[in-house]
Amino acid sequence: MQTIIEPFRIKSVEPIYFTTKAERRDILEKAGFNPFRIHADHVLIDLLTDSGTSAMSSNQWAGIMQGDESYAGSASFFRFEKTVRDITGFRIVIPVHQGRAAEKILFSVIGGSGKYFISNTLFDTTRANIEFSGSTGIDLPCAEGKIPSVPAPFKGNIDTEALEAVIRDKGAKNIPMVIMTITNNSGGGQPVSMRNIRETGRICRQHGIPFFIDACRFAENSYFIRQREEGYADKSIPEIAREIFSYADGCTMSAKKDAFANIGGFLALDDLDLAIRCRNMLIITEGFTTYGGLAGRDLEAIAIGLKEVMDENYLAYRIRSIEYLGDKLVKAGVPVMQPAGGHAVYIDAKAMLPHIPVDAYPGQALVCALYEEGGIRSVEIGSLMFGKYDQGGRLLPAAMELVRLAIPRRVYTQSHIDYVAEVIIAVFRHKECIKGLRILEETPLLRHFTARLEPLK
Ligand SMILES: *Cc1c(COP(=O)(O)O)cnc(C)c1O
Repeated sequence: MQTIIEPFRIKSVEPIYFTTKAERRDILEKAGFNPFRIHADHVLIDLLTDSGTSAMSSNQWAGIMQGDESYAGSASFFRFEKTVRDITGFRIVIPVHQGRAAEKILFSVIGGSGKYFISNTLFDTTRANIEFSGSTGIDLPCAEGKIPSVPAPFKGNIDTEALEAVIRDKGAKNIPMVIMTITNNSGGGQPVSMRNIRETGRICRQHGIPFFIDACRFAENSYFIRQREEGYADKSIPEIAREIFSYADGCTMSAKKDAFANIGGFLALDDLDLAIRCRNMLIITEGFTTYGGLAGRDLEAIAIGLKEVMDENYLAYRIRSIEYLGDKLVKAGVPVMQPAGGHAVYIDAKAMLPHIPVDAYPGQALVCALYEEGGIRSVEIGSLMFGKYDQGGRLLPAAMELVRLAIPRRVYTQSHIDYVAEVIIAVFRHKECIKGLRILEETPLLRHFTARLEPLK
């Protein structure tokens, strides 16, 4: 097979800063062994997140100069609205400053106590906004999605049998919405099949429950459907995306993902009554209906990015470049979640560091080792992020101890990724020397952002 090349050339560059291992050891110590506390200038390759970290194209930057900053009725809004309508087919488009703002508006309008929202897996901000409204979130990932080491084509699917059972159990009238996250971010960036989306839409319609898509990575998911699902090999990405949305009643989206924008998002739907209630909330919390917390230039950048992201050459490169890193790690014996997701590779730290018990945070220990070895910043998705304590103060660990390497869009080249693989493999070869950590300081909520730790003796 021919090498799949980056489908762009580089017009503007940004330096990255090199540090020595000794300097990094010192930086880690000062940051309390928590890379969230490290200055970005001290990071060589930043794989903390793919959110808002994309490189914009020359066209997007040109669009920024075309931004119409009129308070009401800006031309940029109408270009944005037309693009979202063309892609999704939804008639009503509500701009917001990022994905969670769409969630906050939607769930404060339809949520409330005694209600249940069902999903393949709710992303953490989605769940938080549902719970903040007083409702309960229920995740129903399919069986394959729960086993990291065994590959399957659509591990992001919802378990439709469980969905029907929960609807029977809780009653359709207590379920204001079913939400499908594509790709399934918290479940490893794994895709959802068209068949699963169609079937979920059918079940929801049968029970009169609105069905929404959390569409942050709709283009990556569409590409996986084209690659892996029978009957889609000859369909274009816009056709596949349009079919996905055709089974749903609306969507929320963070433009910081599959729109190559550094900020922004939207809520799109057809139900006019619901839209009126959402727009009232929008005006209170985000801004007028034609800008929703964004500048006109942001709306331009999103509109252009939404079209660029559906380019086949881009998606082939994007999906392959993640798989390329995953393949290198698998070949070296590093335990990773399989297959690679659409935006990230996840290392199974529990399997890689069996000598570190979960209450000594093997995921965070690996995150620190990757930074020390090669200046790579990743994020722990394990018991530091999701762990809770029982009444006796003992850790109730998370289900998995993962380290996520999220790849920003269009930012790093193949040699950067080769370097990342080399660093991980070097750490893997001396994995027995990695020590566990203990928490010195933490906050009651979202402790992983600010906690300070120290290595165990
Ligand atoms: C990022 C993300 C969100 C929230 O979007 P923000 O722009 O970060 O507020 C919601 N759902 C999923 C699946 C995401 O990845």
